[in-house]
Amino acid sequence: MGIYKAEAVVLRSRVYGEADRILSLFTKEWGKIVAIAKGVRKPTSRLRGAVQLFSHTHLVLYRGKSLDTVTQGEASEDFAFLQDDLAHLTAASYCAELVERLTLENQPIPRLFRLLLTALRTLRWGDPALVARVFEMQLLAILGYRPRLEDCVVCGRKGRIMVSDNREGHPSWFSIERGGVVCPACAPVTEGVRAVSPAALEAMAYFLRTPLDRAVRVKLARGCSVEIASLLRSFLAYHSEVKPRTWEFFDDLHNAT
Ligand SMILES: [Zn+2]
Repeated sequence: MGIYKAEAVVLRSRVYGEADRILSLFTKEWGKIVAIAKGVRKPTSRLRGAVQLFSHTHLVLYRGKSLDTVTQGEASEDFAFLQDDLAHLTAASYCAELVERLTLENQPIPRLFRLLLTALRTLRWGDPALVARVFEMQLLAILGYRPRLEDCVVCGRKGRIMVSDNREGHPSWFSIERGGVVCPACAPVTEGVRAVSPAALEAMAYFLRTPLDRAVRVKLARGCSVEIASLLRSFLAYHSEVKPRTWEFFDDLHNAT
């Protein structure tokens, strides 16, 4: 009790009172934590550099009744470059928002902590939309919502449904509700299936089995990227009941380009 250490990423930072900030932190050791950084908006604060938005930081905290307090900190990576570009900032905000909204306080998920750090680092050079797509897929898998792409979610027919369908010229089918692909035999008798291109399914399967910093090197047609974004948006909204605020920023960005 009392004092403890945490390796953290700052997911969200809100102004509080005269000079304080309330931080949402995702920590390796404790999962999500909400903590206050007192006096951090004063120019003389020694904590200031340690708790910038998205910083990868090593903190010392004091456990309080309702809110923990950051007492010391040192950032090891600041990710300040994210502030220079709206598309990068939006992708980082989106990843952080998903983590904040889909995890519980004091529930450590070290794999997700590593994935978030990899996503932030990859934004230094990777396409922001692709980073967001691969992050979504891998986050779903880590949290137990992995979409089933290898066998029919209705009849269990095994095999590479999307590849064989592609060869035969049929569309592939996906059920948001059942959480995966549906074979051509089951599709006509299954409610709520939507057509999905074999290329999008192939890309999604690739995103699930490939480390994020490698997966984002894939060349993906813009139409395919948009298709996956739309599918995953429905999937997230249905299975986790989350409708991230950042989606509106993504839409604005797409409409502006
Ligand atoms: Zn089937």
